[in-house]
Amino acid sequence: MNFLITGAAGFLGATLANHLVREGHQVRGLDDLSTGDPKALAPDVHFTRGEMGDRPKLWTLLQGVDFVYHLAARVSVPESILYPRDYNDVNVGGTVALMEAIRDVGIQRVVLASSGAVYGDQADSTLKESATPNPRSPYAVSKLAAEHYVRTIGALWNIETVILRIFNAYGPGQHLPPSHPPVAPHYLRQALRHGTLVAHGDGSQTRDYIYVDDVVSAMVAAATAPNLNGLAINVGSGTETSVKELIHQVLSVTHSKSNVVYNSQTSGGVSRMKADINLAKEKLRFTPSIKLDEGLRLTLQRDARFK
Ligand code: NAD
Repeated sequence: MNFLITGAAGFLGATLANHLVREGHQVRGLDDLSTGDPKALAPDVHFTRGEMGDRPKLWTLLQGVDFVYHLAARVSVPESILYPRDYNDVNVGGTVALMEAIRDVGIQRVVLASSGAVYGDQADSTLKESATPNPRSPYAVSKLAAEHYVRTIGALWNIETVILRIFNAYGPGQHLPPSHPPVAPHYLRQALRHGTLVAHGDGSQTRDYIYVDDVVSAMVAAATAPNLNGLAINVGSGTETSVKELIHQVLSVTHSKSNVVYNSQTSGGVSRMKADINLAKEKLRFTPSIKLDEGLRLTLQRDARFK
């Protein structure tokens, strides 16, 4: 089959692209390389550097494509608080541009990488797709708006759409920007160089960490499984882990004695997050297979930056 992946040079995009070419599929990748690295892609992935707003390029790349994965986005919650307009331009505007191009060319199905962040704080910490989203950051708002655009434009033009609400993915190749890096690889790096591990708040806030290969399994199923049209489906491990526990596991897999500091001056964000994954189990036959300690070990083994 023929796939187009936007954001293909990013963490999840490159892992997905490399998996699909290994399975014998034709894969085109688009990325503006604002954070992505094309060297992460296997040589068989047909990579094009370009912007989500470049519709002529999208039309060209979409010719002959069966399925589109839309992953290109700005992905930092704290950065989105500082630059909400950029997040709206790329995550919302880029999605609308892609859906217009998909409408013009005619594609079977599009899978959007959305986020568990759309839920925000909820009364029940186990987050079901039926909960009313309560986004707490411009990033979360932009992902929710993208969901609505994808589903609405898809319904108007008979394009099948699937929304995956991915929780906290981690694994080899995750982008580690100097400011506001994602917590799992950041703690691994700090522990390995015996730096201090700083946690926001008291470290009791929980997240649902999911290893990248499990995310890829769900994404692969989302392209072809039947009866998914219009659905939003959680992709998480179904396990809730506090930041304190994450730190404990990081120190254990790295055999590090780094100091840990809890900064009560800063907020830990949403207090509790755990994905209800029953819909993914039912519709995608999804079962997360990698526990956090094993995923952290695999990240250390497979990511050259941690050698
Ligand atoms: P990433 O930053 O590694 O990948 C995003 C890619 O999009 C980057 O390679 C970047 O260069 C590219 N990009 C950004 N703006 C672009 C533009 N205007 N035009 C073309 N390309 C552009 O992030 P990731 O972790 O791989 O996330 C991929 C997708 O999954 C995103 O949509 C993100 O919102 C979603 N998601 C990720 C997680 C996670 O934990 N990693 C969780 C929930 C949702």
